[in-house]
Amino acid sequence: MTPPEKRRSDYDPYHDNKKYHLAKLWSTKGDVSPLCAKTPRKIDLRKESWTLRPEAVTCKRCLAAIAEKNALADQGAEG
Ligand SMILES: [Zn+2]
Repeated sequence: MTPPEKRRSDYDPYHDNKKYHLAKLWSTKGDVSPLCAKTPRKIDLRKESWTLRPEAVTCKRCLAAIAEKNALADQGAEG
């Protein structure tokens, strides 16, 4: 008997499944606000996390915002 293999398709070196946002704003206290927040908010690090590498982002709303930003950059707009 072999147990069913766990899917390892997601990059998950710490074996947690937190949502990774792209960090956008930092407060002096060390709080981080994600790109997908319309108004700055604290990321709850118990439930979610953040990264600066767009390829490591798993939050769909952040990914959409990144894609939008890239599309604007392609058009030559200034960010
Ligand atoms: Zn996000």
